[in-house]
Amino acid sequence: MLIVGAGFSGLGAAVRLRQAGRHDFVVLERADDVGGTWRDNDYPGAACDVPSHLYSLSFAPNPRWSRSFSPQPEIRQYLRDLVARYDLTPHLRLGHDLLEARWDEATARWRVRTGQGSFTGRVLVLGTGPLSAPKLPAIDGLDDFAGTTFHSARWRHDHDLTGRRVAVIGTGASAIQFVPRIAGTVQRLTVFQRTPPWIIPRNDRPISGLEQWLYQHLPPARLAVRAGIYTARETLAVGMTLQPPLLDAVAALARGHLRRQVPDPALRDRLRPDYRIGCKRILLSDDFYPALARDNVELVTDSIDRIEPDAVRTADGRRHPVDTIVFGTGFEATRPPIAAAVTGRDGVRLADAWADGMSAYRGSTVAGFPNLFLLIGPNTGLGHTSMIYIIESQLNYLVTALSKMDQHGVAAMEVDAGAQHAYNEALQRRLGSTVWNTGGCASWYLDANGRNTTLWPSFTWRFRRLTRNFDPRGYHLRTEQEVAARCTPQTPVR
Ligand code: NAP
Repeated sequence: MLIVGAGFSGLGAAVRLRQAGRHDFVVLERADDVGGTWRDNDYPGAACDVPSHLYSLSFAPNPRWSRSFSPQPEIRQYLRDLVARYDLTPHLRLGHDLLEARWDEATARWRVRTGQGSFTGRVLVLGTGPLSAPKLPAIDGLDDFAGTTFHSARWRHDHDLTGRRVAVIGTGASAIQFVPRIAGTVQRLTVFQRTPPWIIPRNDRPISGLEQWLYQHLPPARLAVRAGIYTARETLAVGMTLQPPLLDAVAALARGHLRRQVPDPALRDRLRPDYRIGCKRILLSDDFYPALARDNVELVTDSIDRIEPDAVRTADGRRHPVDTIVFGTGFEATRPPIAAAVTGRDGVRLADAWADGMSAYRGSTVAGFPNLFLLIGPNTGLGHTSMIYIIESQLNYLVTALSKMDQHGVAAMEVDAGAQHAYNEALQRRLGSTVWNTGGCASWYLDANGRNTTLWPSFTWRFRRLTRNFDPRGYHLRTEQEVAARCTPQTPVR
């Protein structure tokens, strides 16, 4: 089995497989270290906005989280520790960038080419992350900029920002974390905002030594905290997916936060969102608004017209001189580049199968791509709680599918196109009334066709139930003998 990516998804899969007594897998990772998004996003102030007692693997608990919202280095270390804790080194292939994965119908195997050699496996698991390819905006003149530019997920730590004139483009979840951290270092900071985010208080706090001791020696205490966070977060799903007006209470909290933190009414006006809260990710910050009020920081809300060699020019004709541009402009979430490297049955690339938008069955499998499992596939994302819960649900699906394949001598399994279509029609019907589709904003949740192909439109326990056990109904199965005899199944299991 071939697992691609050594972030939360890929390492989580590796741990689960080891725990299930399997050793027949390798994890291909393009970088020279594990950690995925928590390796790449090492910008100043990077931290998780979901409490780590929930944002961690339930089957690999850590009683020693130091803060309610763990900083990036601690989460990265947690992931590194998984390698030693579960003896994953023999399975890891670091520096193995996936160049191509191709399904070989005759042998029912995936053939994978990497920068450091080729691999063959019965099952291919993509744990490549939905937010791993940085998105850079196409702004006129960018190529002629004479200074330094970089994306928040590729932070240039070798480029000292001290005394520099820096532009930050974007005010999303990443930017609001690093803006306060660099504001005191740079000479001048110009923050370009296209759409104001809704921001509520973060209320981060250290977890005391006593609490950590308790979580270590009394696991039910840690589990109770985890359950409490889970339940509190899940109540948000009611407003986001069923009754958006219920989110008005959260909007009131955010408005109060803005009022308290930004005394200047003119600045406050420009920071007040005009779409329903929850439509974009609700951000948590106690220091973003105060950073904007600093003398050396300016919030610019006029749209960017073009970039000049030493400045950003806005539509009002103003020139904003800068020597560094930091893009906090997000990721290629709805057109993942990895899809261009994966070719399924009949030579169809995943990118072509998804030309009109991503789609999968239960977020995990795709018609035309036998024995391919996606972790955090289409419509598994969340606007309110921990993605680790979703990953674990999908790992249940994967592990139970593998057992069924073993038990019944199945060599190849492929979801039926009709079953996938029906699943997605039902999903899209549910999504139609969610705040993400109706809240009056543009976000990375929607693709170029305005279709929400990223988020799960319900409670997470519903997704857990759906993926608890692999159910072969709706799948085309081929046994090893059928593969050897070159049989093609016509009807899915019912
Ligand atoms: P993002 O939420 O997609 O934000 C991108 C920002 O860039 C937005 O403010 C966007 O404006 C702006 N932008 C994009 N293109 C632009 C252009 N051409 N001109 C001007 N502005 C432009 O990206 P992100 O902040 O990196 O966060 C992405 C996701 O990563 C989050 O939603 C979250 O799921 C995850 N994340 C999580 C954490 C965490 O704590 N767990 C932290 C960081 C990120 P518009 O709003 O107008 O599009």
